[in-house]
Amino acid sequence: MLYEKEFKSPQKTQQILARVEELTEKTGSIRLMEICGTHTMSIARTGIKSILPSSIRLLSGPGCPVCVTPANVIDSILSLAEDPHILIASYGDLLRVPGTDPEENLLLKKAKGAHVEMVYSPMDALELSYAYPQLDVLFLGVGFETTAPGTAACILKAAEEQVKNFSVLSLLKKTEPALRSLITAEDFAVDGFLCPGHVAAVTGSDAFAFLPREFHLPAVVSGFDAADLLYSILELTHMLAVHRPALVNTYTRLVRPEGNPLAQEYINAVFQTCESTWRGLGTIVDSGYTLRDQYRQWDAWEKFHFRPSSNAEHPGCRCAQVIRGVASPLDCPLFKTVCSPAHPIGPCMVSSEGACAAAYQYEV
Ligand code: SF4
Repeated sequence: MLYEKEFKSPQKTQQILARVEELTEKTGSIRLMEICGTHTMSIARTGIKSILPSSIRLLSGPGCPVCVTPANVIDSILSLAEDPHILIASYGDLLRVPGTDPEENLLLKKAKGAHVEMVYSPMDALELSYAYPQLDVLFLGVGFETTAPGTAACILKAAEEQVKNFSVLSLLKKTEPALRSLITAEDFAVDGFLCPGHVAAVTGSDAFAFLPREFHLPAVVSGFDAADLLYSILELTHMLAVHRPALVNTYTRLVRPEGNPLAQEYINAVFQTCESTWRGLGTIVDSGYTLRDQYRQWDAWEKFHFRPSSNAEHPGCRCAQVIRGVASPLDCPLFKTVCSPAHPIGPCMVSSEGACAAAYQYEV
């Protein structure tokens, strides 16, 4: 266990690194995957990859919510934005994500006169519905278990106040089914997981116990500081070295085994699980959250008959492979040539949690 004052201790860091190096003599080459976009950014920003032994490869998995939202969903959102009676409210990241056409995104729609607003929370979007009673406000509810409770609370408030001109397009996704799908895919080649600290704060660390129990894969619920990540990598390497996969929680200052019961209550009150399509992983049973029947009135999928059709991707963009960890951003021929943060082709270059944006900003 590391305590706060040790987090910034160079001596402690050196000790951890030395121990990791020692252990890799037993493990040989290993591949560890983080499944949280904030981990992806922290790993890139802190330069951890550059100080680890070369036998440890860190891969990014499907942990960026904007990145896993398929292109056809973005295309259909862009079509909705053309309706002069609709106001689209969204977190900032999604505003710059292109659909299949890299020259189109919500910000450009706004520049052409569409009603599009950036919000910091679902409640901000609900406020917009009071400010613009003549418009139908549609909030793009993207995220994992982390943003689901706040979205649920907002829907409860809209229902309590019987707000008629507000709805949520739930693009929320559940982590566990996606991990199962990833692990059972033919090209899966990962030796251990850095599990997402923010998701686990809601679900509880126990939600990841299936990884060692069913798949014999070590899993560590990790925080986001450099020391958190290094210590978690040490734990994973140790478990691999002694061939004893288990679930370890190194983020005990925030994550409890049972998670946050109140947040879970909110999710369960408003949502039920449904089939959901992930960029890179395809359609996965029970991997999404849809509004329960009693809240259908606030469900934008129903209200606007939202049915994304074709599932094309921009040719050349390798986001689907990057999301599964089978390609790195540098494997993409468009990386830094055609695709950049100023001119993103895929979501992994737009999102502040995207692997391509992280590599562009910090690694190359
Ligand atoms: Fe897609 Fe751009 Fe990343 Fe290539 S560099 S995978 S085009 S986001």
